[in-house]
Amino acid sequence: MSNNKMRIHKGDTVKVISGKSKGAVGPVMRAIPESRKVVVEKVAVAKKAQRPTRDNPSGGIMSIEKPIHVSTVMLVCPKCSQPTRVGLKLTDGKKQRVCKKCGEVID
Ligand SMILES: [Zn+2]
Repeated sequence: MSNNKMRIHKGDTVKVISGKSKGAVGPVMRAIPESRKVVVEKVAVAKKAQRPTRDNPSGGIMSIEKPIHVSTVMLVCPKCSQPTRVGLKLTDGKKQRVCKKCGEVID
């Protein structure tokens, strides 16, 4: 039984509710339950200088998204399109995520 499991998963659309990227909406590219963080497309982007390589001889600047804490995002419900907290509902022994706004099962 893992209490580590997050209610935000890869592929979810989330809205950032605090921090520098507040208000941004995007898909979760990666979920990192160990640190309770998520990587959201085009959110918390850091520029990184890249050394020239054989494939990319001129080097350059690469943009990478930094993980942000899961508590700074809210799930955008695919059913009602509102940012919501995620509830859990037990159906036939299976946990399903539920939108707290419209009550629809999300998974
Ligand atoms: Zn909803």
